[in-house]
Amino acid sequence: MSTEKDSASKPLDFIRQIVANDLASGKHSSPITRFPPEPNGFLHIGHAKSICLNFGIAAENDSVCHLRFDDTNPCKESTDYVESIKRDVRWLGFDWGEHLYYASDYFDQLYDYAVQLIKMGKAYVCHLSGDEIREYRGTLTEPGRESPYRNRSVEENLDLFSRMRKGEFDEGACVLRAKIDMGSPNIVLRDPVLYRILKSRHHRTGDKWLIYPMYDFTHCLSDLQEAITHSLCTLEFENNRALYDWVLDALQTTNNTKPRQIEFARLNVNYTVTSKRKLLQLVNEGHVSGWDDPRMLTISGLRRRGYTPAAIRDFCATVGIGRRESWIDMGVLENTARDDLNLHARRVFGVLDPLKVVLTNYPEALTEELIAQNHPQNPEMGERILPFSREIYIERSDFMEDAPKKFFRLSVGREVRLRYAYLITCQEVVKDAQGRIVELRCTYDPATKGGSAPDGRKVKGAIHWVSVPHALRAEVRLYDRLFTVEDPDADKERSFMDFLNPASLSILGNCMLEPGLAEADPDDRFQFERQGYFCFDPAASGPDAPVFNRIVTLRDSWAKLNEAE
Ligand code: ATP
Ligand code: MG
Repeated sequence: MSTEKDSASKPLDFIRQIVANDLASGKHSSPITRFPPEPNGFLHIGHAKSICLNFGIAAENDSVCHLRFDDTNPCKESTDYVESIKRDVRWLGFDWGEHLYYASDYFDQLYDYAVQLIKMGKAYVCHLSGDEIREYRGTLTEPGRESPYRNRSVEENLDLFSRMRKGEFDEGACVLRAKIDMGSPNIVLRDPVLYRILKSRHHRTGDKWLIYPMYDFTHCLSDLQEAITHSLCTLEFENNRALYDWVLDALQTTNNTKPRQIEFARLNVNYTVTSKRKLLQLVNEGHVSGWDDPRMLTISGLRRRGYTPAAIRDFCATVGIGRRESWIDMGVLENTARDDLNLHARRVFGVLDPLKVVLTNYPEALTEELIAQNHPQNPEMGERILPFSREIYIERSDFMEDAPKKFFRLSVGREVRLRYAYLITCQEVVKDAQGRIVELRCTYDPATKGGSAPDGRKVKGAIHWVSVPHALRAEVRLYDRLFTVEDPDADKERSFMDFLNPASLSILGNCMLEPGLAEADPDDRFQFERQGYFCFDPAASGPDAPVFNRIVTLRDSWAKLNEAE
């Protein structure tokens, strides 16, 4: 599977260039990559970037990308998350084939590796508390101090480590640390913790383990185990690369097969958060309906919102791979969706805020079948039949009582085109006791069937409509950004929660859609003419109450807030 936008003409990004060089020099015959999620939440748009990169490089080189669950923290992980991650990677269009792995499958080997380090005098059991370890670690400007437990004998360390494994110590009583260099300018190398005691049940290994390896120890050795050639991660791991290399160098000698860690800039999208911890908080505190809430930039949220896998892959290709941290505007993501939907989405009529119109000179018993195009720019997408009758719904905003001259839609005495139907002229406004407009009474010109006047008279406005007796009543959900500020984390005094957009969801409960939408499939996407792109949301729908989500507006309303129609 290749991303739609990569092509031979585009220069290689720096990682693909490294891979190409390694193949050219014969260092590797083919690159083996991996995507290593921790199953402690659902995947988000940032993960999509990493997935497209890792699986993309493998696919471009007829090689394989492993899906490896980095499941070393039993307290926060679950099989539900594992399943959601598999579903999302597949949905994005990628396939790990038989290469599905779990770091927990390596716990025995990792333990043996730790024992090996102890035997080499390169690891020791330390009884300092977490706070003390931090305090002894020093700062960027001051070296650390050595732990009083640093120089115990190999025998003592072997004994203590095996007793840690047996559960003889409480959580936090001791840890296994690498013996590297407390004076290193790189703080990561100041005797990092390799193993900790956690008396938690693991979703795969059950109660077998009471000690669990840390990320830095696990990751490089999992890469080694799977013969990964290029281990791609985000820039915050740059300092950890020294530890990655230290562990591998300490435990093996053949440099040929040593995986290489390469860092790239993570994806940040404005007006949202993409840390799993924060997404979980939004879910747990009920600010969204779940991990797949269509306002969340999780893969499952984007899927439910109506984004296609191709749009997300295109977005990742557009963003590209580099080493400089940057923010991507949400509008870029929305535009990729528009580009994709504009080509493929069927055009339909949906009235979101209905106002009834009675055509007083149209025969009461008549229903006509009018022909409408599914995509005016793409005749190959065919035509459909729209029923037309004496009573129709139009958009309330397509009528105005004291309309200015430039209002080209309906007003008393003015004529407008009902798309694919007739020219109609408004004769009268009907109001209820509160003065609210409840109905328009109009006349239609029978000579204008199809929407054009034989005498050539000019009618500027064209509006959409739905026949009253044929309408499909539906709920439509409109989404706005989840946060009101570009970077919800920028204000260190306040929580990102303080910047939630109270208007991020609008529910329109009484929309009238053309009848064909009763057969909408979850994979269909539509352009409701003049309203945006929409999809059917089966998860939110009841048996008689279909729900449609707006995927995006037709144009970037944030960039063109004040643009006139
Ligand atoms: P989060 O920060 O959201 O909790 P994480 O890094 O803890 O994410 P992991 O499950 O460890 O989540 O991530 C799996 C892979 O996805 C890692 O290789 C990580 O570097 C990559 N990744 C995570 N977030 C991003 C992002 N925003 N942009 C690019 N890659 C990302
Ligand atoms: Mg992580």
